[in-house]
Amino acid sequence: MVALFTPCCTSHLLHKFTQSLDFTGFMLIVQKYGGTSVGSVERIVSVAQRVSQAAKAGNSIVVVVSAMGKTTDGLVKLAAEISKNPCRREMDMLLSTGEQVSIALVSMALQELGQPAISLTGAQVGIVTEAEHTRARILHIQTERIKKHLEEGKVVVVAGFQGISSSNALEITTLGRGGSDTSAVAIAAALQADYCEIYTDVPGILTTDPRLVPEAQLISEITCDEMLELASLGAKVLHPRAVEIARNYGMPLVVRSSWTDDPGTWVTSSQNKERSLINLEIARPVDNVQYDTDQAKVALLRVPDKPGVAASLFGEIARQDVDVDLIIQSIHEGNTNDIAFTVFTPVLPKAEAVAAAIAPVLGSHKSNQAEEAEVMVQQNIAKVSIAGAGMIGRPGVAAKMFATLAAASVNIQMISTSEIKVSCVISAQECDRAVAALKEAFELDTPTPPTPPIPLTPPIPPTPVRGVALDINQARLAIRQVQDRPGTAGKLFGLLADHNISVDMIIQSQRCHIVNGVPMRDIAFTVARIDAEAAQKMLQAKAAEYGWGEVALDQAIAKVSIVGAGMVGQPGVAAKMFAALAQHHINIQMIATSEIKISCVVTQEEGVKALQVIHAAFGLAGSEKFIVPV
Ligand code: ADP
Ligand code: ASP
Ligand code: MG
Repeated sequence: MVALFTPCCTSHLLHKFTQSLDFTGFMLIVQKYGGTSVGSVERIVSVAQRVSQAAKAGNSIVVVVSAMGKTTDGLVKLAAEISKNPCRREMDMLLSTGEQVSIALVSMALQELGQPAISLTGAQVGIVTEAEHTRARILHIQTERIKKHLEEGKVVVVAGFQGISSSNALEITTLGRGGSDTSAVAIAAALQADYCEIYTDVPGILTTDPRLVPEAQLISEITCDEMLELASLGAKVLHPRAVEIARNYGMPLVVRSSWTDDPGTWVTSSQNKERSLINLEIARPVDNVQYDTDQAKVALLRVPDKPGVAASLFGEIARQDVDVDLIIQSIHEGNTNDIAFTVFTPVLPKAEAVAAAIAPVLGSHKSNQAEEAEVMVQQNIAKVSIAGAGMIGRPGVAAKMFATLAAASVNIQMISTSEIKVSCVISAQECDRAVAALKEAFELDTPTPPTPPIPLTPPIPPTPVRGVALDINQARLAIRQVQDRPGTAGKLFGLLADHNISVDMIIQSQRCHIVNGVPMRDIAFTVARIDAEAAQKMLQAKAAEYGWGEVALDQAIAKVSIVGAGMVGQPGVAAKMFAALAQHHINIQMIATSEIKISCVVTQEEGVKALQVIHAAFGLAGSEKFIVPV
C-alpha cells in the first residue's frame, strides 16, 4: 500500500487540549451530545452538570444536541405507517422535532442548576443549507446570535441535524441521519472555536464497533484521513461529513464518553487552514490531481472463486517482500474470477514471477486447459487520482472525472475509490493529457506534483491497521457486458450521479470478451441498500440504449474493511486480511483497495464473523471488554 503522509496536529496542541479538559482555560468549546447521552431525564441532568462545570470554569460553551434516545427512529417509523414514500419536505418537518425537544430540556436543566442558558433551533441560529430535503449540506452559519448570547454569559444550546434552506424561504431541512456531529463541527468551524467535543456512549473511537467485538480497544489519536475512511465504511461513531469539516478547517476534534471523564480519542488534522466559511460544505470538492507513472499491473484471470485464493496469492507476494498498491478482485464469472494488482515498476519482475508460479497451482483442479488461470502483465501504466474531502457523498465528482477522461479519449483500466480519492489506472502515454484535462475540469491551477514515491522508512511506524469496520447497508450491482471504451464509466456513473446515488467499490473485470468486434467487460459496484432497487430499475431501463447485458442486484452482502495510514510500504497487510478470512472459510466476493484501506465483500451472513476474525488477526483485541450502555 502507498499513502501520502498527512502531517498531524502537533503534539503540543494535543497536550494543550488534553490539559484543557480539566477546564482550567478560557476557551470557546462546542460540545455535542448524541441521542443516548440525552436519552432520559437523568442523562439530561448529568449532561447539564458537565456543561455547567465547563462554563463555570470560565469557558464559553455551545452545546449541540441530538434527539433523545431513539426518537428519530420512532418518527421515521411513524411516517412509514402513514406513507411508503413520504414527501421529503414533510420528513424534515417531522424529524427536526426530535432535536427541538432535547434543546429545550437541556436548557431547562442548565437553568435549574443556576447556569444561564438559551435553546435555539437551526433556523433561529441561521444554519443555512442547500434546499435538499433530508440530505442538505451546510452553506453557512450565521454566528451573530450565538455570539451575542455567549457574551451575555449564557450557554447556547443548538438543535443538531437541522437547518433552514435560505433566510427567505424558511424551509426546515435536515442533514441526513447522524447529522448532529456535522452540525457541531460546522458550528465550531464557523465560531472558530478552540475545539469540538463529541460526547457519545463509547469511550472514544475504538478499533472496531464494541457492540460486535467487545474486546475492541480505544485509539487515543487518529488522523482525519483514517477516520474519514472508517466513518464512511461503517463506523457510525462519527458522521463522515463532520470529519470532513474538521479536516478542511483544521478543527481539533475529540470523541469522549458522556459517562466518564476519560480523555477519549483526538481526531487530528493538519494545522489550521485559511478557508472561506461561505459554502462551508460545498466549496471545492477536489483539492488536487495526483499522478504516478511508475506503475505496472499484474492480473490473474480465471482464478477459482473459493476461499483462500487471494490469501495464497498475496501471502506469497508478501513473503517475497513485494509491496502492492491497488488490488481489485472482480465478481465471479462462472466459478472463477479475476484478481489484479499494481506494483511499482522496479518490483514488477518479482511480482510477475510469483503470479506465474502460483497461477497453475490455483487453477490445477481444472481439467479444461482453457479454464486455467492466466497471468497478464502490463507495463507503462499510470495512476491518476483526484483527491479532496469535499467529494464525500457527491457522486457527481467521480462521474465528472470519468467523463473528463472520456472527453480526452483516455480509457480507464482500473478504478479505485475511497471517500476522499478516486484513482484511475490508465496508459502512461495518456497521463499528461489526463492530468491536464482533470486540472481544467476541476479548476485547479496549481502545479501538480507527482505522487511521492514510497518512503523507505514509513513515517508512521506503529500498527499498520488502526481500525476495522463493517458495513451491512450496502448492496451490489453488476452490469454484464459493458463496452470497454472511453466514456463507458462516465456515462454509467453520470447516470447514477444524476439520481444522487453514491457509488463505492467500482470494479471492472479484467477479462475481456469480444462481441461483434467490440471488447466487453463486466462492471460491478456497491451502493447504499436503500438506493439499490431504484438504481437497478434505472440502469435496466437504459441497458438496451447503451448495449449493456444483465443488470444484477445482490442485496445480501456485507463489506468489511481495514483502515490505517501505516499500511504505507508494509507488504503483507492485505495477505493477512485475506488469510484470516480463508482460515474461517469465508469466501471473498470482491476486493477493492485505496492507499489506506482494503475492503472485501462477503456474504451478509458472514459479515460479523469476518469482522471479528480480521480484528483478531491484526492483534487489535484488548484484554478489557467494553459494555455499551443501553
Ligand atoms: P450518538 O447517538 O452519540 O451519535 P452513535 O450511535 O451515532 O452515537 O455512535 C456511537 C456508536 O457507534 C457506538 O455505540 C458504537 O456501537 C458505534 N461504533 C461503530 N464503530 C465504532 C468504532 N470504531 N468506535 C466506537 N464506536 C463505534
Ligand atoms: N437525531 C438524528 C438521527 O438520529 C441526528 C443525530 O442523532 O445525529 O439521525
Ligand atoms: Mg451519531
